Amino acid sequence: MRSAPTILHLDMDAFFASVEQASKPSLRGKAVVVGGLGPRGVVATASYEARLFGIRSALPMAQARRLAPNAAYLVPRFAFYRSISDQVMGLLRALSPLVEPLSLDEAFVDLEDGGAAWDERSARLAGARLRADIRAVTGLTGSVGLAASKMLAKIASEQAKPDGLVLIEPGRERSLLAPLPVRTLPGVGPATGDHLRRAGIHTIDELAEAGEDELVRLLGKAHGHALYAMALARDERPVVAERETKSVSVEDTYDVDIHDRVRVGTEVRRLADRCVRRLRGAGLAGRTIVLKVRRYDFSTLTRSETLRGPTDDPTVVREAAARLLGSVDTTGGVRLLGVGVSGLADYTQEDLFAQAAGGRGEESPGEEAQMAAPAEEERRTSVERSWPAGHDVRHTEYGHGWVQGSGLGRVTVRFETPGSAVGRVRTFRTDDPALQPADPLPLVDRSLGESERPQGGAETSDGSGAGPGGMDPGHSQV
Ligand SMILES: [Mg+2]
Repeated sequence: MRSAPTILHLDMDAFFASVEQASKPSLRGKAVVVGGLGPRGVVATASYEARLFGIRSALPMAQARRLAPNAAYLVPRFAFYRSISDQVMGLLRALSPLVEPLSLDEAFVDLEDGGAAWDERSARLAGARLRADIRAVTGLTGSVGLAASKMLAKIASEQAKPDGLVLIEPGRERSLLAPLPVRTLPGVGPATGDHLRRAGIHTIDELAEAGEDELVRLLGKAHGHALYAMALARDERPVVAERETKSVSVEDTYDVDIHDRVRVGTEVRRLADRCVRRLRGAGLAGRTIVLKVRRYDFSTLTRSETLRGPTDDPTVVREAAARLLGSVDTTGGVRLLGVGVSGLADYTQEDLFAQAAGGRGEESPGEEAQMAAPAEEERRTSVERSWPAGHDVRHTEYGHGWVQGSGLGRVTVRFETPGSAVGRVRTFRTDDPALQPADPLPLVDRSLGESERPQGGAETSDGSGAGPGGMDPGHSQV
């Protein structure tokens, strides 16, 4: 591991909800929930105010509504979030060529590679400047973690939230991790957490003390090894700018078509194992299992199944491939079989036990699933030609606003913009020709000077006053 805390992890604070609060003055300081509003919708992001009611990402929307009936429930505006994400990623790429985005609002940056930082002081300065720049360009706040490894940088940014900076001093990694709950580590979900608790392991210190053999016995080889290394703060994973491989797959072509169903099953299992070996060899895990079947007539089918989280467990991959095979007619004979894993991640983020227990294509806290639910929502609304809550509109007389709600042939619009005061609400017929969908307005008015720039949604403090001076050493918060 490197000796300076020059790996930076940026995580925007309650990103989607903060964008909405910055867009809509009437929602600032209020509980805002962004997500799929359909019957199977889940929460994508909740504002900090909404989190006080116990609302979290991936919570079913119906449950969120019971917890906070008066919160604002909005349909995501992904294209707009992406445009702001592009601005943020642009600032990161100005710091270093080594930027590894994890989602729209989260990324690792290797500060050393770009020469932006080389020691603790320069890293802290670069992180503080970045936060100020993000605020100036987007009007939003992001939290920064700095450490000598990716795992610790991510833990640090979590501790920095909201609107903060935490640097983990090299040499203090293990003492910092020791008292933290095992769930802090990537790859420890609720089920693994329970499993460990039943074995008397609650903290990362206890995890390290249990020893590698015991963890392998409890959790299986891959997971056990990985967790033990993380408990000792060992993490050598580099920041990877472009993932060279988007998927890992293996396939075999057979000289003679295989007709025997049992033999086909055996081959698929064998390919699954081979695929997992290659996956592990590359230090990767993946969420989507793909089966490829070329039949006797050269027709080629692919079937895929997406798990709740990345896996590198041969049993999980084997079982998924077998399920996929069950949906393919192979009676005429098979000339090629392939098994692949895509949706790659560096480690298994989600709980292997939960997956093995049978999560199949369900909604998950992963980014893709968050995106899936709203897509469903958008389709539905476009068919009905209704007005998605939170989306932008323009009225010929009243100007720019957003849909606060609709139903029974009426749509309620609040007329306000990022730079305006809290706006007034008016109600129209849904087919009012004066009312049209509109593009979002920029959060930061580029025509304003530095000091006049509007601030982001969350009330925040001192993003700019972040010199290396007034901070405690080691583990401090800006
Ligand atoms: Mg975030």
